[in-house]
Amino acid sequence: MTFRSKAFEIAQGRVSPVLTPPTEKVADLYGSNTFSDDVMKTLLSAEAYTKISNAIRSGSTIDREVAEEVAAAMKSWAISKGATHYTHWFQPLTGTTAEKHDSFFDLTIDGKAVEKFKGSALVQQEPDASSFPSGGLRATFEARGYTGWDPSSPAFLMDNGAGGKTLCIPSVFISYNGEALDYKAPLLRSLMMLDKAATGVCQFFNRDVSKVTPTLGIEQEYFLVDKALYYARPDLLMSGRTVFGHNPARGQQLDDHYFGSISPRVNAFMVDFEFEALKLGIPVRTRHNEVAPGQFECAPTFEEVNLAIDHNALLMDLMQKIGDKHNFQVLFHEKPFAGINGSGKHNNWSLSTDTGINLLAPTSKPKENLRFLTFLMNVVKAVHDHADLLRASISSAGNEHRLGANEAPPSIVSVFLGGDLTNMLEELVSKGEITLEKGENFYYKLGISRIPNLQRDNTDRNRTSPFCFTGNKFEYRAVGSSQNSASPMIILNTIVANQLLDFKREMDERLVAGEEKKVATVEILKRYFLESKNILFEGNGYSDEWIEEAAKRGLSNIRETFDALYAYKTDKTITVFERTGVLSSRELHARYEIELENYVKKLQIESRVIGDLALNHIVSTVVKYQFKLAQTARSLTDLEMMEEAEPIKEIIRDISSHVVVIKKLVHEMTESRKRANNIEELFERAKCYGSEVKGFFDEIRYHVDKLELLIDDEDWPLAKYREMLFLE
Ligand code: ADP
Ligand code: MG
Repeated sequence: MTFRSKAFEIAQGRVSPVLTPPTEKVADLYGSNTFSDDVMKTLLSAEAYTKISNAIRSGSTIDREVAEEVAAAMKSWAISKGATHYTHWFQPLTGTTAEKHDSFFDLTIDGKAVEKFKGSALVQQEPDASSFPSGGLRATFEARGYTGWDPSSPAFLMDNGAGGKTLCIPSVFISYNGEALDYKAPLLRSLMMLDKAATGVCQFFNRDVSKVTPTLGIEQEYFLVDKALYYARPDLLMSGRTVFGHNPARGQQLDDHYFGSISPRVNAFMVDFEFEALKLGIPVRTRHNEVAPGQFECAPTFEEVNLAIDHNALLMDLMQKIGDKHNFQVLFHEKPFAGINGSGKHNNWSLSTDTGINLLAPTSKPKENLRFLTFLMNVVKAVHDHADLLRASISSAGNEHRLGANEAPPSIVSVFLGGDLTNMLEELVSKGEITLEKGENFYYKLGISRIPNLQRDNTDRNRTSPFCFTGNKFEYRAVGSSQNSASPMIILNTIVANQLLDFKREMDERLVAGEEKKVATVEILKRYFLESKNILFEGNGYSDEWIEEAAKRGLSNIRETFDALYAYKTDKTITVFERTGVLSSRELHARYEIELENYVKKLQIESRVIGDLALNHIVSTVVKYQFKLAQTARSLTDLEMMEEAEPIKEIIRDISSHVVVIKKLVHEMTESRKRANNIEELFERAKCYGSEVKGFFDEIRYHVDKLELLIDDEDWPLAKYREMLFLE
């Protein structure tokens, strides 16, 4: 019996667990594992509660005494709920989350056990930073890194699996010199800047707005594979994706709806993690749709960006843990299976004011629509001006397999606004210079008094656009499923903040020069539209015509990660980031290097897995099978059944021809990898990996996949696509 058939048997034999939902109402359950506002209200003194609330709202600093009080409250709350340890929970640039657990319990000098958690331990920790990437920000003589409490994201309790719980404190991670080593620190800076810039622009329309909060709803796609089969695929285990595997006879050709119903086993897993997510205050909505065979999606309701990102990171972690319990492996890789949809993480983004306005939602009031058009056009202009940077923010080895393949957005950044909105803007521009006669209705005259209801069935039409307007928010669809959303969000927040600062400056100049406010606004927006028009695209983003058309328009189509990342280093980028204070040029450069390093590492692992599997699993199995065939052929020949032996010999020759090529290609790939490893300069090394080493992957795969069709099904060593994807 092969490892594969054993695994398949185990997978087939699983019974779906009976899940007893918690007895509490969802409303009681929601957030019960978080150190929430309600908990603070009960446990803190009125003074401390007010101070911490202010700190959460406005980012003001927390003094020592308040920190002590919060720490004490957190400790007693956590211990009362069964926690034994605490940790600063942070998001290093490895793309996962990190934690280092410390015990609440300590020994006094005379050996008595006490529970201890000081304010200073809440505010700052010093994890061993040396194992996290720093892109040169941490000199070897100063390996220290610090994590610092982010009070705006509530602390929560994480089950350790073996009974105990840990109090997790969301934190930033910075170097000794205060440079960002994580995603959260620059994200918080970008959010602060965007708030400031957007609030400034709001003053032209609503003077009462004093805070603008960017919002984010993250749609997370993923695949599920049975644990046993997962372990029967060393490539999944090592690189997160299948490097070989012939497409199943029934792939995605059939209508999507075919995969409409979710098996009880998958359903049990979903219900289980959703309850746990709700307890952690993650607002998951029960929505169980299957996209490709074996693929699913989870989309919580939108929240403030910082929270949405923490919650997504936590959700991914949680899904993996609950998956273990249900004998599933959750695959977050962007392209775990060739020839089938990849997975994305659609980022739905908008701006909301403290007065309850969604700045990207058109309304039925003309005056408000001018505000809407202002924010809309500023986003479009920002995306137009920094499309390459936005492209860089979603570049990775995994996403490279997805972009531009099966139903995934192309690597060309374009913006979809929808026909109605585009026509309206076209018309506005065609009106020419604006003159306002006395008594004329400005909005009516310019055709912006009524904005059609855009939300209606927009979604289906714009599935091919990487960045589209969906009625009251923008949706960045090119983001990869395994990515930390902070990476694209830092960029989006920053370029929009920068753009809004420009807008405000020009408005101020025009107003000082005596221009009428509405007229000035429209004049600027008209110019923005003309300047950024070539990024607007309404057609089919998957078509070849678009690739040609985009090239004619001068839009970039950067296919490779190593080229895409370059945008982090340009003067244009550095200027914007230094102006807004989100990242220094050193920090930008570090990020560039870390991403390139990650890219190289991923390809190196994949290449090794491919070589190992091809030779030690495939070729070795195949020659054994060939031997069996040879014996059969010889027996037939001995019986003088020459004609009957011929087709068998034919198969032997067929197999041999593939084996010869595979051996040769693996050898060449290894040589090219060695060459790449010897290249000192990081970009050149990444380029060599991305263009030379990677070039062998599909070629080798082609021959291995052919062999899969030639070898006796019983002998094939790797779990097949149909076994992994169509499991009930
Ligand atoms: P669709 O399924 O058509 O893409 P949904 O209404 O289901 O759209 O929303 C998708 C995601 O967008 C959800 O996570 C939702 O919470 C989020 N979303 C809705 N409104 C906003 C908003 N104003 N800001 C950010 N995200 C939003
Ligand atoms: Mg969507």
